[in-house]
Amino acid sequence: MKSLPDSEHIIIGGGAVGLGAAYALARAGVKDLLVLEAEEEVGRVTTSQGAGLCGQPRESVERVRLAMHSVRVFRELQASTVPPDWHEVGSLRIALSDRRVEELRRLKAASDAAGLETHLISRQEGERLFPLMDLSKAKGILWCPTDGWMTPQSVAQSYAHACGEMGVRIARGTRVEEILLREGRVAGVRTNRGQAACRQVINAAGAHAYHIARLAGLELPIIPVRHEYYITLAMEGMTPSIPCFRIPELTLYGRARDGGLLLGGWEPRSVHTDPRGYPIEGTPPALEPDWRVLGGFEASFEELLPASRGKGKQRVGKGWPTFTPDGRFIIGESRRVPGFVMAGGCNAHGISGSGGIGRLLVESLLEPHPSDYVQSLSPDRFTETSWTWEQARVDAAHVYETYYGV
Ligand SMILES: Cc1cc2nc3c(=O)[nH]c(=O)nc-3n(C[C@H](O)[C@H](O)[C@H](O)COP(=O)(O)OP(=O)(O)OC[C@H]3O[C@@H](n4cnc5c(N)ncnc54)[C@H](O)[C@@H]3O)c2cc1C
Repeated sequence: MKSLPDSEHIIIGGGAVGLGAAYALARAGVKDLLVLEAEEEVGRVTTSQGAGLCGQPRESVERVRLAMHSVRVFRELQASTVPPDWHEVGSLRIALSDRRVEELRRLKAASDAAGLETHLISRQEGERLFPLMDLSKAKGILWCPTDGWMTPQSVAQSYAHACGEMGVRIARGTRVEEILLREGRVAGVRTNRGQAACRQVINAAGAHAYHIARLAGLELPIIPVRHEYYITLAMEGMTPSIPCFRIPELTLYGRARDGGLLLGGWEPRSVHTDPRGYPIEGTPPALEPDWRVLGGFEASFEELLPASRGKGKQRVGKGWPTFTPDGRFIIGESRRVPGFVMAGGCNAHGISGSGGIGRLLVESLLEPHPSDYVQSLSPDRFTETSWTWEQARVDAAHVYETYYGV
């Protein structure tokens, strides 16, 4: 018996990115959409591991606009029947050197050009917004009042519900095992629950995006890099309305979570893995908390937040977000395999980027003249050039290690 409906578009992966893509396409009028998710629940894999910060000030106007679009989508979802746990509490980006103050000015200029409200504020104002923080060493602070945080899986659930209301079908517990090609173009998928014909597949399989691309005969450098944060025990003053923060010199970010401090960061020597080393039905290597790295985050942060010194921990968050060698998303249809579309390579901002990635996907697939920016994100940049896995891993690791690089 055939248990899956044929559909015009099939999205592989029900994480933040796949569901954000489904939401954007459905809002743009594409109704014949089926999302296939291997797990029994949406947002259970990398999405559920995210710290949930959403920061809009970025170096380029396009990237600011993309993040702004995500925030618009989160607001839209808040008015829906199953709202996400989204808190628009603002964020502080704290510079500890003159060089970083220059960076704040550049971020502000890009934000101004994109129409995003930001302010360079004083230490006193920063401490008023985040009373637990000692900002006496801060040389500059950029305040973005519309940044915020979310509980990542709630965003996936909210997308799924809103998609369902627009007629999108979501098949959980359905693992794609083969992409069916006819005369070189996508014709359907075979899964553990049967086959379905389609005109387009959209690969949003996170740490399995490499494997899904291989099923279509494409080799894409989508490289999982380990990322971690910890959450302390409850601390007086860490209320949900406290702003998020980023301290680029210390390569740290954080927010309030479950009454404590969530502190994450980017270590200078990353741990990455080769996606060819685990099968499509497997998972990246299991992770244990790395206290050498997490302890380093704690040591460099305690001067700024003395109340966190020696505080016990309630939990560690960890996972394998994917990185690309050039640090850019991979979005759009492949010229090599018509009907094969990418939505991935999120470089650890796939949840906060999900709304904007959806919009770029709509532009790339439905608009007659996608912008140069959107075209530059095409998977063809990796399928029509030569590269090696060794170099791709080095480059992707570098993107991670210099996440807050100037
Ligand atoms: C510790 C940590 C902190 C982070 N902090 C943030 C943050 O603050 N802000 C932010 O924006 N991002 C953050 N990220 C990154 C973010 O989690 C990812 O960018 C995002 O979740 C990627 O979403 P996704 O939908 O691409 O992947 P996933 O959530 O992994 O979804 C992919 C889905 O595809 C499914 N799938 C795989 N193979 C198949 C198959 N064959 N058939 C069917 N389904 C399949 C999987 O089951 C999975 O559900 C963080 C990540 C980590 C690990």
